[in-house]
Amino acid sequence: MSGEPGARRPDQLRPVTIQPGFMPYAEGSVLVACGDTKVICTASIEERVPPFLEGKGQGWLTAEYNMLPRSTHTRKRRDRDKLDGRTVEIQRLIGRALRPAVDLKKLGERTLMVDCDVLQADGGTRTASITGAMVAVAQALAKLRRDGKLEVSPFGTFVAAISVGVVGGTPTLDLCYKQDVDADVDANVAMTEDGKFIEVQGTAEHGPFDRAQFDTLLDLAAKGIKELIGKQRAALGPEILGLLGK
Ligand code: UDP
Repeated sequence: MSGEPGARRPDQLRPVTIQPGFMPYAEGSVLVACGDTKVICTASIEERVPPFLEGKGQGWLTAEYNMLPRSTHTRKRRDRDKLDGRTVEIQRLIGRALRPAVDLKKLGERTLMVDCDVLQADGGTRTASITGAMVAVAQALAKLRRDGKLEVSPFGTFVAAISVGVVGGTPTLDLCYKQDVDADVDANVAMTEDGKFIEVQGTAEHGPFDRAQFDTLLDLAAKGIKELIGKQRAALGPEILGLLGK
């Protein structure tokens, strides 16, 4: 079940699994698999905020992303001296996409540090990171409630992300690497549980696209995201959802 093109309909997600508690030292953790893309996501709680927020009575969420050297077909050098541009772009996207998941005022002066480490890359690593990290963040917030550190749930909304594109003229959900390479249009979409957009990144790879095509892609993304949020809820289970008031 690799989710290879041809093995699924263009409006179908690749097989998704979200395995909670994958890194038990972290306050929240999962291994998320979307087809052959696999990412470890952790959420750690630090009892402080960055200097620009000190004394403001609110918390923060920030994210880091990395691909392991052999997550790809040819070895990717580790970032040692300087992060590459793609890494910076992706980790900022992950942070922005996840911030609506947390009511930062209710979190208090704490930072949720999200780490996404790609074990295996087959397209859609940034969207799998967001979808998986959402579950890790929810676990970490539930732990704060369970430990009696917060009387009110700081949970905002569920969020998930997915890629969509036009491949061989067909609007397609959740592109694997091969489809990503072939795509004429390629977009990444992050949305909330009630279907509001957080981020839409769409690019014409081989010539401009029209509004109707883009609307079709956004509808596909909304369908996929709804399914992913169902998986997130199932992975968390009733005890954690209860602690979060969800
Ligand atoms: N990729 C790769 N090496 C890299 C960057 C990307 O092999 O240094 C592959 C990998 O499979 C990745 C895909 O290209 O998932 C698409 O990369 P993109 O930058 O579009 O990000 P993603 O789709 O993973 O969010």
